[in-house]
Amino acid sequence: MPRPTIAHVDLDALRHNYRLARERAGDASAMAVIKADGYGHGIRAVARALAADVSCFAVACLEEAQAIRDEGLNQTVVLLQGMHSEADVATCACLGVEVVVHSDYQLQWVIDSPDRPTLWIKVNSGMNRLGFRPSELAGVMARADQGGCRPKGFLTHFASADEPESPVTEAQTRVFNEAVAPWPDLLRSVGNSAAHFRPGQPLFHWSRPGIMLYGASPLGDRDSNVLGLKPVMTLASELIAVRTLQPGDSVGYGQTWTADRPTPMGIVAIGYGDGYPRHAGTDTPAWVNGQRIRLIGRVSMDMLAVDLSAAPAAQPGDKVELWGANVLIDEVARHAGTIGYELLTGVTARVPRRYRG
Ligand SMILES: *Cc1c(COP(=O)(O)O)cnc(C)c1O
Repeated sequence: MPRPTIAHVDLDALRHNYRLARERAGDASAMAVIKADGYGHGIRAVARALAADVSCFAVACLEEAQAIRDEGLNQTVVLLQGMHSEADVATCACLGVEVVVHSDYQLQWVIDSPDRPTLWIKVNSGMNRLGFRPSELAGVMARADQGGCRPKGFLTHFASADEPESPVTEAQTRVFNEAVAPWPDLLRSVGNSAAHFRPGQPLFHWSRPGIMLYGASPLGDRDSNVLGLKPVMTLASELIAVRTLQPGDSVGYGQTWTADRPTPMGIVAIGYGDGYPRHAGTDTPAWVNGQRIRLIGRVSMDMLAVDLSAAPAAQPGDKVELWGANVLIDEVARHAGTIGYELLTGVTARVPRRYRG
């Protein structure tokens, strides 16, 4: 028997979320960001499932672009981090992958190459991670032109779109808009998932939703269900042991939790070796037999302990949801001091992905 620890992936929910992104993008088109193995859901299955709705995918690296082509899909693919070596230029051109150029050395590779992938120019509007400063753009565009390259558009990325009160996104939008104004006929792309939920936020020609497609909240102050998103992944396992702890009994490594009354307790076959966060401590919610239960003690590599006081009839073999429709990944992330992104991309290869829809 295979281990009962499974990441169920609901492809109908994925399509629902993409359509919501498209709706919220208004006049902009939405490129589906499926980097990091489709945020842990399996890039090939995600690309296939979205293929009928999506005309452009965005990925971080060439291996991900290759995976899309290996599926026989010929949508536009944008390589968000651009090329990592000179040899990548020819590969991108051959695969028909559009590349984001964020540094001079990348532009030089393209200029020096007989193969010419389509280019996007990354503008640093204030995140200060990647991209050319607005004052450098005229020079970059002149060099591209002299080298025979005609970029397709400009991109920028927001640092704080997830914080509704922050003035940073508005400032970045203004900086970007002014920086690219001299090239009005080129395309513009801004907007991670969070930007889709900012009233009045311009998204120009192409927005770039990622996390929202998978049904996790991009916002710090609102959970996914409030935003109309449907969870795509249900991380599930089973109880493999139950016992009653007596007052004074502790459970797990370090004995960090001790019963103060007789407590029905279960062991679930999932741990940090599966990508369940070790920092999710006592009181992190889980779900069994229609009841909300809570973790107790430390998460181990292959298992964790739950307090079954709310579901005292639970037995070995009963299904446990670690996150999904009943326990939002946003809640688990809060308990673990992280974000849904890290949890989704952290589900390890040991956990089979099972698809429906
Ligand atoms: C990952 C990424 C996105 C998607 O961000 P989400 O917050 O997941 O929506 C958009 N643009 C760029 C450049 C990215 O790297």
